[in-house]
Amino acid sequence: MNRDAIAASVQEVYNWIDAEVANNTAACDACGKCCNFQAYDHRLYVTSPEMIHFTANVTDPKPMTKGYCPYLHEGKCTVHPFRFAGCRIFLCNGDSDLQSSLSEQALQKLKNICEKFDIEYYYTDLKTALNKNQS
Ligand code: SF4
Ligand code: SF4
Repeated sequence: MNRDAIAASVQEVYNWIDAEVANNTAACDACGKCCNFQAYDHRLYVTSPEMIHFTANVTDPKPMTKGYCPYLHEGKCTVHPFRFAGCRIFLCNGDSDLQSSLSEQALQKLKNICEKFDIEYYYTDLKTALNKNQS
C-alpha cells in the first residue's frame, strides 16, 4: 500500500473541504462541545482512507473508551491539522443543506481514492475506526 500517496490524496480532499467551508458565513468558535459525542448527541463517521491519512500523521493512536473523542483535551482538538472530513464539515450553527452536500461530495472523493489505490472502503463511526486501529 502506498500510504504516503494515499495520505496526500486525502489531504487534497481536506484542502478542498477547507476552501468550501471558508465560504460559509457561520463560524465555529472551537468550543469542542460537538467532539463530546455522548453529551452532544452527535456521531462522527470516518472513512478508511482518512484513517490511513490519520495514522500516517498521528503517531500515538488512541482507542476511544468514553463518549468523547480521545483527541479532545481541555475542550481543544489536539490533532487539528489532521482532523477528519466530518470534523471539518460539521458546523452546529451552519447551513445543514450545504453540509449534507459537502459530505456527499467528500465521500465520493474519498471513495475514488479507494478505487484508485485499490484499498477497502469503509465508512464507520470514529469509535469503531479508532478501536479497530488498535487491533
Ligand atoms: S461546531 Fe459548534 S459545537 Fe462544534 S466546536 Fe464549533 S462551535 Fe463548538
Ligand atoms: S479529531 Fe479533533 S475535531 Fe475531530 S472529533 Fe476529535 S477532537 Fe474533535
